[in-house]
Amino acid sequence: MQNVSTRSRLALLVIVSALPALGLSIYNGLERRAQAEISAREDLKKSAALAAKHQEETVEGARQLLFALAGTAESLRKDPKKCQEFFTKLAESSGGLYRSIGIHGADGYLICGTVSSNGRPGAKDRRYFRLTADAGKFAVGDYEIDRVTGLRGIRFGYPVMNAERNAIGVVFAELDLDKLSEITARTPLPLDGRLTVFDRSGVILALHPHVVGRIGETVRIPKVIEAIQASGEQLFDADDTDGVRRLFAVQGVGINPDGGVPLHVLVSTPRQIILADADLALLQTTIGIVTATLLLALGAWYGAEIAVLRRVRALLGVTSRIRAGDLTARTGFPPSEEELSQLGNALDEMAQALQKRDADLKRALRELSEQVITDPLTGLNNRRYLWDFLGRDLLRARRAVLPVAAILFDIDHFKRFNDTWGHEAGDLVLKSAGEVIRQNVRGSDIACRYGGEEFIVILPEATRTVAIDRAERIRRGIEQMALTVSGQPLDRVTASFGIALYPTHADDAEALVRVADEALYLAKKGGRNRVQVYIAKPSLF
Ligand code: GH3
Ligand code: MG
Ligand code: MG
Repeated sequence: MQNVSTRSRLALLVIVSALPALGLSIYNGLERRAQAEISAREDLKKSAALAAKHQEETVEGARQLLFALAGTAESLRKDPKKCQEFFTKLAESSGGLYRSIGIHGADGYLICGTVSSNGRPGAKDRRYFRLTADAGKFAVGDYEIDRVTGLRGIRFGYPVMNAERNAIGVVFAELDLDKLSEITARTPLPLDGRLTVFDRSGVILALHPHVVGRIGETVRIPKVIEAIQASGEQLFDADDTDGVRRLFAVQGVGINPDGGVPLHVLVSTPRQIILADADLALLQTTIGIVTATLLLALGAWYGAEIAVLRRVRALLGVTSRIRAGDLTARTGFPPSEEELSQLGNALDEMAQALQKRDADLKRALRELSEQVITDPLTGLNNRRYLWDFLGRDLLRARRAVLPVAAILFDIDHFKRFNDTWGHEAGDLVLKSAGEVIRQNVRGSDIACRYGGEEFIVILPEATRTVAIDRAERIRRGIEQMALTVSGQPLDRVTASFGIALYPTHADDAEALVRVADEALYLAKKGGRNRVQVYIAKPSLF
C-alpha cells in the first residue's frame, strides 16, 4: 500500500465504499429470490388444490350418476333391450363425457350396456368392479382400454343392492379420457405450468397442455412415482423427462373403499421461471451498482488529476527546485482556504523567507570578506590580500609570460607627524596618502597598506617605465597634499619609493617584495622623496 499512487488509492476507496451497497443489493436479491420461491410454492399448491377440486367434481359427478342408476337398475335388468336404449341415450346426453355405461352382474358379466359384450370376458378382473362388488361401495378404477370399443378410459362402479342389502350387480360408467383432458384444461396454471392426472399406478390419464401420445404412458420421473405411492400432498423439485428442472406439487383425488387414492393431480412449473424476475432484478441492480462504481472510480482517477495531482506535482517541483538551491521557485497558487492551496501558499512564503535570508547572508558574507581584506583606516587592501593577490597574479603572469611591477613606499619621517601634531595628524596623513594612491591605480592594479606607514602597489603587465611613471605620480601627489589639523597646516608630506620588477628582479612574490624593500631602502638612503628601481647586485659567479 506504501507505493500505491494517490489516484489508485482514491479509486480503490470508491470501490470499497460501493461494496456495502453491492452487498445489500445482493442480500436483497437473495431475499427476493427466497420470497419468489415461497410464493411460487404457495401458487403451485393452490393450482394443485384447484386441479384436485376439478377432478373431485368429475368423480363426484360420476358417483351421483351411478347412484341414481343403481336405484333404477332392478327394472333395467329385466328388459335388456330397453336397458341398452336407456344407457345409449344417457351416454349421448352426457355430451361424450361417458362413453360406455352399463350393468354387470355379480359374476362380472355384462347384463346390459351402451355396447353389447359380444361374449367378451367379464369385468371380474377389473379393479373398479372388484372394489365395488367386495365393499358394496362406489369405486374408481384404473386406466384401461375398453375390451369392446378399444377406447381408453377410466371406469367408475357403484353397487346394485337387493332388499337384503347384498350386492347383486355393479353399475358402471366409463369416462372418456379426451373429455378428462378438456376438464383438466379448465384449471388455470402458472406460466409454463403443466398439469397431469394419473391413476393409482402412475398412468397418465390427462395432460394440460395436451401432448399427443402421452396418455396411457406411465410417468417416468422417480420422485413423482414416489409421491403417488406416498399419497397426500407433496411439493418437491425434480428434473422433468425433458431435463428441465421443475417444481412439482402432487395431490390425491378421491378415495376408494380399500383406502387407496385412485387419482392424482400433478402440477409443475419450471424453476427458471420462478426465479427469473428476482434474478433479472438482481442482475440489473448489480450491473447498475458496478457500472456506477466504475464510473465513480474513473471519475476519481481523472478527478484526482485535476483536483489534487496537478498541484501535488507543482508542489513537488517547487520543493525539488528549492532543494537544488533555486530559491526563486514558487507554486504561484492563489490564496485559498483549501488545504493544498494553503500548503502551496506556505511553501511560497517559506521560499520567500529563505530567499531573503539568503540574500542577507550573502551581503553579510560579502561585507565580511571585504573587511577581512580591507584596511579600515585607508580603505585600501591589507597585507593579507596582498599576498593572496600577488601569489595568484604572478602565477598568471608566468603562464602568460607577462611582467609585474611592485612599488613599495614609505612616508618619510612619519614619526614626526605623530610626535608634533598628535596621532590624529599621523592618521590624517595615512588616509590622505591612501586617497592619492587610489586616484593613481587602475582596475587591474591593487594598492595595499603594507605596514604602519608603508604602502605597496602591484601593477600587472607594467614595464619599468610604466612603473616609474606611476610611482612618480604618487610621489608628486603625496608631496602636493596640503593638510591641516585643527586649522594648523602640517608640514609637507613626502615618501620614498622602491620598485622591483617581475621576472627581471625576482622570481616569486616574497622575493619581489623583498627586493622592492631593498630599493626602498636605497631611496631612503639616497635622500628620501624619490623613486628607486632595484639594482641587482652583481653576481658572485
Ligand atoms: P623614515 O623616514 O626613516 O621612514 O622615518 P620614520 O619616522 O617614518 O620611520 P619610523 O619607522 O621610525 O616611524 C614609523 C612610525 O609610524 C612609528 C609608529 O608609531 C607610527 N605609526 C605606525 N602606524 C601608525 C598608525 O596607524 N597611525 C599613526 N598615527 N602612527 C603610526
Ligand atoms: Mg617605516
Ligand atoms: Mg617612514
